Amino acid sequence: MTAATPWGLDHLPYGVFSRADRPGETPRVGVRYGDHVLDLADALHDEVFATGSLNAFLSRGAAAWRDTRALIRSKLATDPVAAGLHLVPLDRVELHLPIEVADYVDFYCSLEHASNLGRMFRPDEEPLKPNWRHLPVGYHGRAGTVVASGTPVVRPSGQRGAGVFGPSAKLDIEAELGFVVGAPTALGERPGRFADHVFGVTLVNDWSARDIQAWEYVPLGPFLGKSFATSISPWITPLEALAGARVPGREQDPEPLDYLRRAEEWGLDLTLEVRLNGEVVSRPPYRGMYWTPDQMLAHMAVNGASLRVGDLFASGTVSGPEAGQRGSLIELTWNGTEPVKLSDGSVRAFLEDCDTVSITATAPGPEGGLITLGEVSGTILPAR
Ligand code: MN
Repeated sequence: MTAATPWGLDHLPYGVFSRADRPGETPRVGVRYGDHVLDLADALHDEVFATGSLNAFLSRGAAAWRDTRALIRSKLATDPVAAGLHLVPLDRVELHLPIEVADYVDFYCSLEHASNLGRMFRPDEEPLKPNWRHLPVGYHGRAGTVVASGTPVVRPSGQRGAGVFGPSAKLDIEAELGFVVGAPTALGERPGRFADHVFGVTLVNDWSARDIQAWEYVPLGPFLGKSFATSISPWITPLEALAGARVPGREQDPEPLDYLRRAEEWGLDLTLEVRLNGEVVSRPPYRGMYWTPDQMLAHMAVNGASLRVGDLFASGTVSGPEAGQRGSLIELTWNGTEPVKLSDGSVRAFLEDCDTVSITATAPGPEGGLITLGEVSGTILPAR
């Protein structure tokens, strides 16, 4: 297997799986290698990988993450026959939520997305609120409703206006990149280097009910329009695998405050791809995001809030400047006024029951190849 495959030695994302041939066993941690999963508990003789989630391994810290990745790479490269004994075909496993999500934070880091939503929700005002260029705006989401890719999403019901209750008629997606915290901090302590705390990235679909959101969000922010489900990929790509995808952060005006001007001012050259019922509707570019991953981390802990093992913080919708680069339907269809036409002749303003949305992403690999992030997908079920 060469570096040219998107699931080769230079990627090795982590996930949690159970094996069809071992019913009843606690799910195990593995890394994806080609069309197989390497069973780490067996291959490395380490029970930390047999605990049902990545959290126990994450809590060992950044040095252990690096050593483990090096060990896995060397086993696969130098002793493929021995490693092969612990490779399970992907079609023989079931994939699960890879982490026990501790706290979940969602940011709003795309200048284009924030501007588009400002224009739609507040047409008579400046698109960006005065704080937007001074701090990465975010909110705390609901960790308990973060679900693994493939979990069906039931259309939420809620208040859509004064005296109006019913199923959301404006069910939407948000294509985002999520960051998984491995190493915690104590209450009152500020995080150190990004790579000492953040283990890796995963694709996120932050499902959003726009009608519920528009009615409820003033003045405290997103609530039930978001908390019914947030889907993540079953695969966590380690930061090390994205070394070749780092790009300078976007120019920021005004200069951010000192605590937001840290050593690691890099963005990521990832191109997302959003498919609706199999058809590509958008290709949002992550590299144009205004606030960097390190700035998100610094900001969410600057008040002394502690980080926990398994924290997930997401970038907010990734939208680029072009119409075909918008990461939500509300932008792609301009709040439903310009529906998307699909090749079967149907049109979508927002999601219909039985629609399936899948998000993938590619990035330059660390050794010149291509990394493909694990897909996040979900299908809409009718309201109950
Ligand atoms: Mn979001």
